[in-house]
Amino acid sequence: GEQKETLGFQAEVKQLLNLMIHSLYSNKEIFLRELISNASDACDRLRFEALNNASLYGDDSELKIRVSFDKAARTISIADNGIGLSRDEAVEHLGTIAKSGTREFFSALTGDQAKDAHLIGQFGVGFYSSYIVADKVTVTSRRAGLEANQAVRWESGGEGEFTVEMVERAQRGTEVVLHLREGEDEFLSTWKVREIIRKYSDHITLPILMKKETWDEEKKEQVVTDEDETVNQASALWSRPKSEVSDEQYNEFYKHVAHDFENPLAHVHARVEGKQEYTQLLYIPSKAPFDLLDRGARHGIKLYVRRVFIMDDAEQLMPLYLRFVRGVVDSNDLPLNVSREILQQSRDIEAIRGGCVKRILGLLESLADSEDDAEKEKYKTFWKEFGRVLKEGVGEDFANKERIGKLLRFASTQADTPEESVSLADYVARMKEGQEKIYYVTAETFTAAKNSPHLEIFRKKGLEVLLLSDRVDEWVTSHLTEFDGKQLQSVAKGGLDLGKLEDAAEKEEAEKAADEYKELIEKVKATLGEKVKDVRVTHRLTDSPSCLVADEYDLGGNLQRILKAAGQ
Ligand code: ADP
Ligand code: MG
Repeated sequence: GEQKETLGFQAEVKQLLNLMIHSLYSNKEIFLRELISNASDACDRLRFEALNNASLYGDDSELKIRVSFDKAARTISIADNGIGLSRDEAVEHLGTIAKSGTREFFSALTGDQAKDAHLIGQFGVGFYSSYIVADKVTVTSRRAGLEANQAVRWESGGEGEFTVEMVERAQRGTEVVLHLREGEDEFLSTWKVREIIRKYSDHITLPILMKKETWDEEKKEQVVTDEDETVNQASALWSRPKSEVSDEQYNEFYKHVAHDFENPLAHVHARVEGKQEYTQLLYIPSKAPFDLLDRGARHGIKLYVRRVFIMDDAEQLMPLYLRFVRGVVDSNDLPLNVSREILQQSRDIEAIRGGCVKRILGLLESLADSEDDAEKEKYKTFWKEFGRVLKEGVGEDFANKERIGKLLRFASTQADTPEESVSLADYVARMKEGQEKIYYVTAETFTAAKNSPHLEIFRKKGLEVLLLSDRVDEWVTSHLTEFDGKQLQSVAKGGLDLGKLEDAAEKEEAEKAADEYKELIEKVKATLGEKVKDVRVTHRLTDSPSCLVADEYDLGGNLQRILKAAGQ
């Protein structure tokens, strides 16, 4: 075959390898979960490609994963008959990190191992976790559809370089062989490996096979037989009844579908019957991904049809403002050959998507409204991580605007801290007698909002004002103009009409002042000329001498700044 080539890892891979070996050592058995997860993904991909090209199966259509070890050679091997890798794919996928936000991620690393271990987990570890226990990894793979002499062997000691060469391989698929480091012999035990698979990979839908062991009377030890046994349950986790799935199993399944290292924050699992029959198992992660704010980033729902994997990132199944949701939807009705194009126009998909949105909003409501402190805490975490994105929903999902409105949280003058913890319902419950509107101020930063001169009169009267400083808040207030029958009102717009909150004496005083300063006002108007629409005496202020006010129907100052910054 072709000569062996030596290539270098992408700089970030080197960094990742280094960190991983040191910081994840206490969790080392997760390498097996990651490699089995990849094998399962590879089988899913083959099954999907084969929907349009059954010849890819050749004479081998029973997809499976095999884990074996060689005590003498001190290796453990994970093999699958999935899609496989071509030479170029091996170079690309096993030498670089394709995740968006990789650079940002690495610049966020601190050098402090404990902190970085946490970050690494959040980033997802994948294939490279092999190097926690191995000092050499050999991957031999043949892509489905390629000839036996077009297989590739990839090998690396994880120290900056890897080699690739073309080899012969009789079967399709991938075998990953780990050459264990000194002292890692515990992974050469059937008992140990089975225990790890049961713990982390039980949910994998394909059979994970190992050779059975029996007691040899003569040798007085366990010996490996030639008989296969399936180590996992090998049934789709989402198709099992809820009562038969433990929290741990839900968590491990999440890590597989979301490619995440941490447990999810919450999940919802339901079978929907009726016009559309489908099962949904949806998760909210506990941490936002690095590319959360990128509206073009991947979406996390996997679509299955009658337990057959159809596609990753089926963006039609979740609106953009819920793009952080991960999980699986399995439809009983869609055709197996459904494509992304078909999904875009499908009414069935629209119905499923509506159902998924309701389910997630319901889950969030149950956390937010819970009497249980731990659940309430979860909602706080959710809001901190994903609140900015949920806010987009106010303008995006007209049908659910009210439900989303109830889930929103803001900072306000009540606590005067940047923490967004006030719901509109909280605000309404605290409204003063005679107060008819929900007041807010928008600014570029929390500090600017909090120190806005427009707040002076409100503070004096003890009226709560929401302090909005997220960019998306301008979007929220332009779409959510009312809550619970109360109008949302910017304190920086229009004539300040506090209605019943003003007493007659104050009004009279204001009018008197306007009269008294008539001459001064005329002078200021003449000086500012075209720059302003009007100059008025105000009772908005108690300490500051003057402030800018937008007309009721003009763009507010903050929105003008945002548009300017965006080049408009
Ligand atoms: P992720 O699974 O999150 O994509 P990994 O580091 O686990 O990241 O794997 C990197 C890539 O290597 C995969 O996306 C896939 O393209 C390729 N890969 C890994 N294992 C296999 C396998 N067993 N068969 C085919 N491709 C694989
Ligand atoms: Mg992976």
